Amino acid sequence: MNVLAVGAHPDDVEILCAGTLIRYRRAGHSVGICVLTNGDLGAPDGDKATIAAVREREARRSAEVIGARLFLLGEPDGFLFDSPGTRIAFAEVLREFRPDVLFAPDPNDYHPDHRAASAIALNSLVLAASPLQRTGSPAIDALPAVYHMDTLALVGAAPQRWVDISDALGTKLDMLAAHRSQNDWLRCTDGVDYLDYATKQARLRGLQCGTAAAEAFRAPEFFPIHRAGSTLPGLDDQGDD
Ligand SMILES: [Zn+2]
Repeated sequence: MNVLAVGAHPDDVEILCAGTLIRYRRAGHSVGICVLTNGDLGAPDGDKATIAAVREREARRSAEVIGARLFLLGEPDGFLFDSPGTRIAFAEVLREFRPDVLFAPDPNDYHPDHRAASAIALNSLVLAASPLQRTGSPAIDALPAVYHMDTLALVGAAPQRWVDISDALGTKLDMLAAHRSQNDWLRCTDGVDYLDYATKQARLRGLQCGTAAAEAFRAPEFFPIHRAGSTLPGLDDQGDD
């Protein structure tokens, strides 16, 4: 399968979905990560172009950890909108990568860019499947199974599926550690070590499903919700048909 995860900022996907992506890679699937903004507000001071360049390097380093293909759409940080331009740009990513499974942020996550990324991801699906909307690549002929990622600190999330990432947590933390500028920044501003933060979230999701660590997901409530069969790693025993 081709598995695509989309986030607003260069480290979003890693925080909430990296363990699951690692499991897909270990099972031999192709993984793509699409980052919609350049993350150029992700520092307390400095030049925005320099910050964007640092964050691009960090995103590439992280993607290399699991051999994921990286798509960087370069929208300005803090100003991500579900617009004709962002829909067409993401529709082209869908057409190039042709995912069987798509992970998108939760529509109610705390950051406006995260909420916009969620809308762009889902609202581009129909465009990507419409041959009359021209982009660089031919229309997709099937919609992917879609899952929303967890929310940060689990606030307001209502997951339906848990993926055991006990054996992938170390690699997930390696990917997060690649985003060094963000960990340095959060440690200064919020007193938060985000490797520790991500570990706590994974441990708590693991507690809920009887594993050492987990990531949690839910499906959006619209038609078509899902492909038949199991599309998440390790779900054959969780009642998926
Ligand atoms: Zn973010």
